[in-house]
Amino acid sequence: MAYATTNPFTNEQIKVFPNATDAEIDTALDSAHNAFLSWRTTSFAERAKVMQKAADILRANIDEYSKLLTLEMGKVFGESKAETELSAAIFEYYAKNAEKLLVPEELPVANKDEGRAKVIHQPLGVLLAVEPWNFPFYQVARIIAPQLSAGNTVVLKHASNVPQCAAAMDKLMIEAGLPKGAFQNLYPTHDQVSRILGDHRVRGLALTGSEGAGARLAAEAGKALKKCTMELGGADAFIVLEDADLEKTVKWAVFGRHWNAGQVCVSSKRMIVVDAVYDQFLKQYREGVAKLKMGDPMDPATTLAPLSSQKAADDLKKQVEGAVAAGAKAEEIPLEMPNAGAFFRPVILTDVKDGNPAMREEFFGPVSMIFRVKDEAEAIRMANDSPYGLGGSVFTKDEARGVRVAEQIETGMVFVNHPTMVKADLPFGGVLRSGFGRELIGLGIKEFVNHKLVDVVDIDAPF
Ligand code: NAP
Repeated sequence: MAYATTNPFTNEQIKVFPNATDAEIDTALDSAHNAFLSWRTTSFAERAKVMQKAADILRANIDEYSKLLTLEMGKVFGESKAETELSAAIFEYYAKNAEKLLVPEELPVANKDEGRAKVIHQPLGVLLAVEPWNFPFYQVARIIAPQLSAGNTVVLKHASNVPQCAAAMDKLMIEAGLPKGAFQNLYPTHDQVSRILGDHRVRGLALTGSEGAGARLAAEAGKALKKCTMELGGADAFIVLEDADLEKTVKWAVFGRHWNAGQVCVSSKRMIVVDAVYDQFLKQYREGVAKLKMGDPMDPATTLAPLSSQKAADDLKKQVEGAVAAGAKAEEIPLEMPNAGAFFRPVILTDVKDGNPAMREEFFGPVSMIFRVKDEAEAIRMANDSPYGLGGSVFTKDEARGVRVAEQIETGMVFVNHPTMVKADLPFGGVLRSGFGRELIGLGIKEFVNHKLVDVVDIDAPF
């Protein structure tokens, strides 16, 4: 595994980055630990200044930052800009709210003999963040904005195909005024990641990535008795009920499955449509997908970007072949495709039945599975028939019905009449094989703090 920038639009390798040496990792951990010893004593106001500055720098240089995203993982430039702005919004959110979110909590004890009890929230120390390439800035902001605001320090192991984005985040935080060592990007091998996690100075792990990486590193964190959060894959249900506004629903379905070239943990991967509107939905969906345009991700006319790498495109093709071999019907939408680059023509999979491996897999690209169900009850059953539990949506004109259905879906997030709201002030995370823990808002900032009880008791109080 080598860290390298390869442009997915041309498949041309642009720059290779050497792995960290063991000595560099030791120095980085020393530096992160030393930074923690002073950073934890800084005021919220001081930390907020750094977070706000990071937001301001991102916004002031949005084109420059966003071009790096498009260069390294191929997303269309408009989406890169939206990601850079979202990352800025996350820094700003914690600049404004961290102190309020971590305010000590006075406990309403039943009897005054129990003392004047409060819970204070103190940082744990150095954290290891392992992050994926699909949102190279947003994923990092989601962890460093809350954790640095809480007084922790962070070392980053980013995905091997986005080394320049990782370095840009490192530079951003230095420019924002973060003390040396408080946030550091490293280029470790997988074995070195294990070594970092096992180091006594490292107090926690936040991982976003695939089920496989999550299972392996969560096991290592467990063995070392370190707190971890896991933000893993998903196969979100997109339920369409008979009373949905079909035209708008189809528009959201096409967007929900194809933004970021379908490489989103919360993409609408399984469309579950009630029989009464199934045929009409499928017809309009096919027409909607056929209007997408593949091309240069820097061209504003492009609406379907290449995948992140040629390997990702080749692997997805094999996965579709596996689904077909197990009985699914695959319809490729014949979009015009550039000759070079990691492009993948959208595929609609139908007739995916129980026992087909596709039922239990995540398709990370523009592959839509569409299921016909009898009614609402069957739609809920089908939505819950998945190893994953990340997000999901329900489309209906009846809001109360939408909420009722949402409450019965076993996932971390459900949206009524929208594919997904990814915002700085909404929590993110899942259950089942989509992981555990939450990122963003108060839930995120409280994942890696010591919720310490301090109780001042009258010396004459009874036992
Ligand atoms: P991945 O292969 O699991 O990689 C994620 C990160 O883990 C990368 O930095 C990767 O480094 C590292 N990694 C993988 N195996 C490792 C090991 N054995 N030891 C140490 N580090 C290891 O996932 P991906 O393909 O980049 O990302 C796509 C996945 O992430 C999808 O499943 C998607 O649904 C999920 N995701 C989840 C969320 C969420 O919030 N729930 C958000 C975004 C993405 P290398 O690149 O060096 O292998």
